[in-house]
Amino acid sequence: MLDSVRMRLTLWYTAAVAVVLILLAALTYFLYARNIAQRTDSNLVELTDAFTTTFNAELPGEIGPDAPQKAAREAMLEHRFRGLVFVFLDAEGQPLLSSLDLPAGVLSNEHLTPELFASPGFRAVSSLAGSPRPFRTIHDGRNGFRAYARPLSAAGRTFILVVLQSRHPQQELLQDIRSAFLWIIPIALLLAGLGGYFLARKSLSPVAAMASTARTIGAANLHDRLGVSNPRDELGQLAISFNELLDRLEASFERQRRFIADASHELRTPAAILRGETEVTLSRPDRSPAEYREALTILRDESQRLAHIIEDLFTLTRADAGQYPINSRDFYLDELASDVLRHARSLAHVKNITLTPSIEPELLFHGDEALLRRLLLNLLDNAIKYTPAGGQVTIECKKNLAQYVVSVTDTGPGISPELQPRIFERFFRADKVRARSETDSGGAGLGLSIARWIAEAHHGRLELLRSDTSGSTFSVTLPAPQL
Ligand code: ADP
Repeated sequence: MLDSVRMRLTLWYTAAVAVVLILLAALTYFLYARNIAQRTDSNLVELTDAFTTTFNAELPGEIGPDAPQKAAREAMLEHRFRGLVFVFLDAEGQPLLSSLDLPAGVLSNEHLTPELFASPGFRAVSSLAGSPRPFRTIHDGRNGFRAYARPLSAAGRTFILVVLQSRHPQQELLQDIRSAFLWIIPIALLLAGLGGYFLARKSLSPVAAMASTARTIGAANLHDRLGVSNPRDELGQLAISFNELLDRLEASFERQRRFIADASHELRTPAAILRGETEVTLSRPDRSPAEYREALTILRDESQRLAHIIEDLFTLTRADAGQYPINSRDFYLDELASDVLRHARSLAHVKNITLTPSIEPELLFHGDEALLRRLLLNLLDNAIKYTPAGGQVTIECKKNLAQYVVSVTDTGPGISPELQPRIFERFFRADKVRARSETDSGGAGLGLSIARWIAEAHHGRLELLRSDTSGSTFSVTLPAPQL
């Protein structure tokens, strides 16, 4: 049960409300009780004042020995209140007269008996008369009494007046408050708990809905999305983030799917040529050696092409997974460019294309030489491949501030502006027919993707700087080492 967030939220919430309610009730009770006690004490003082006034007024001019007692009796008769008892004592604390001695019923108090006057509590309060705080609570096993003592002087003698007030009404009131809290707090907690539970259930219901939708999403319905009830609240934000994750997953899934589809399509063609060529050659037993040689040449070229595509696919897959090993070391970019140029010469020669180098010396670079060789070869290979016979290809290699710039310019037909943004896409070929027919090993449209990845793996970039009917320029920018 505690595994449910809803339940835990409800319990925490109810516990917090319980703490607040209990603290509030305790504080209210404490303040109320203190207030009642203060009011009782000031009431006792007021009553004693009134008693004293009457007592003094009742004392005759010629004071006899029992005059003070008589005056006290008159004052007691005048100030009769329920639950209130006056006790008139001599200076030694011996009770001389109490309102309990007056005619029955006048000051009836069900709990108070004269025995109380002999109790230690009573004696203690009578001894406090004249002190700064002459109050005391006298306990009698029930609600007890609040007592106040004051010295009185008459006929040159000192007496003590003790006023007792029953605590019964106040204690009853406090008891009522306690029992009210005892049922109000549990009811309030029950209501808070129920309210909290329904609130938690309502707030968390989108999570349950999300979980059940998320559970049904798989490769087959990756386009399904979670419902967003309120895009501004936290759960809405969670659903939106989850949907964005699904968007990215779907896009990557789609890229992967297209990649596999394109790859199998590209592999199917050379495989079909291999099979077709073999079947045709074998269909007649009496072929001349020249015919076999020609068939074998085709088989070799196609299998080379097949190996080339597989190699490129392997490179890209490993690059995507971040697993292609980059073996960096120091080498001179200008030497690499010259070397690549030498290799490309034979290709250029076949097509009667002039190769013009413009290479600055001493371009020290730190990187994977084999990969950069591949990059430059790809660019040169494309330039020669797509430039008509008699054209010109220039390779320029220079340092520009903190960068090395290698650019390959050809005088080919260029790439139409609407296709230019797509040439770095995998398997993209602007003109599939020409790409295949003009060269013996037309690429699969992976060369520029790999070249761009190599540039980026070296913290550089590869871009098509310019392409129009007079030719194209591809430019590689690489960071020069800080010397
Ligand atoms: P491919 O194996 O087809 O050469 P690339 O990825 O190297 O694949 O190139 C993608 C496409 O970009 C090519 O099919 C071609 O249409 C175009 N392209 C690349 N380089 C050039 C260039 N120098 N001149 C004209 N078109 C080019």
